[in-house]
Amino acid sequence: MIRLRRDSIVRTLTLAAFSSFLPLATLPANAAEPLEIVFVDVMGGAATLIKTPEGETILIDSGWPGLDDRDPKRIVYVLKEVLGKSRIDHLVTTHWHTDHYGGVKGLAERVEIGRFWDRGLPEDPGVDPANFPDGPKPEDKLGIAYRAASKGKRTVIKAGDTLALKGGIKATVLAASGKVMPAPAGAKPNPLCEHAPEDKPKDDSDNALSTVIKFSLGKFDFFDAGDLTWNIEKNLVCPHDLVGPVDLYQVTHHGMDISNHPTLLKTLDPTVAIMNNGPRKGGSAATIKLLRELPNLKAAFAMHRNHALSESENMPAEFTANSDTTGGEFIRVTVDPDGSKYRVRIGAYGKEKEFESK
Ligand SMILES: [Zn+2]
Repeated sequence: MIRLRRDSIVRTLTLAAFSSFLPLATLPANAAEPLEIVFVDVMGGAATLIKTPEGETILIDSGWPGLDDRDPKRIVYVLKEVLGKSRIDHLVTTHWHTDHYGGVKGLAERVEIGRFWDRGLPEDPGVDPANFPDGPKPEDKLGIAYRAASKGKRTVIKAGDTLALKGGIKATVLAASGKVMPAPAGAKPNPLCEHAPEDKPKDDSDNALSTVIKFSLGKFDFFDAGDLTWNIEKNLVCPHDLVGPVDLYQVTHHGMDISNHPTLLKTLDPTVAIMNNGPRKGGSAATIKLLRELPNLKAAFAMHRNHALSESENMPAEFTANSDTTGGEFIRVTVDPDGSKYRVRIGAYGKEKEFESK
């Protein structure tokens, strides 16, 4: 509640200061808006809310269910109070785990959701019903809620698809349902694959079937792979690199070390990494160490301090959004409308750090 009140005071003061210098009427009607990417704290789940320069909103995953709709409320707060929007135009669910689609019912009760994108449901025509190890079966409670909210508004996505978005932003589906997109003609082998670590035993969970999307605006690229695990992560960059270098990396699978394949990370070569871990979930010491060793990484942010790790194993406090176990603070990335530069800050008042896109 304190945060809400502080926000409205700051907004009033900012508007007052702004209007004394520049009357609102002189603002061009078509002033270019930035691309915004906000990592909402859903306590070890995922909820990444994007606003494009055209004003479209895309939510990738919707956090956990229950707890008096804690996660839908946090997402709607960011949507309305931080991004100034009232509708989710596109909701992408990366895979069928509770921490990624549990918030759909609570969200749909609060805001209109335009279109639902997912990797398919077992009853969909043309999908393999055996490829849904963790549901949602038609009788699953969360599955019932998802089917009701998305009825008549769903699109099934496959590797190689693009999301239909307005303007210059492009969203390419690099992998879904365990398959990666085909390598483009003439693609050269990735030399980093020679030193790739060994595969792990096959992951039979829905994590391995996660949808992977790369968003591109001008030179800026953002990579979100949901909870994709080791072997399929490798397939994204070996033998051919299907991704290319990126600027912003959403640390896969909340920072767990059964994901975050070193060859993928070295190939992505990110400048900034943001990890949506919880106080006691994800954020593993091995993943944090791996990120620190990436030669061109300039900043890595954690959503939460990992309370099971020592101070030195955690990200520094300056790069950690929530040090207590209650959480609620978000991490915001604001990208120039042409994609050339971007700024990252924690919450509404954190110190901004600026980076050049590559
Ligand atoms: Zn997850």
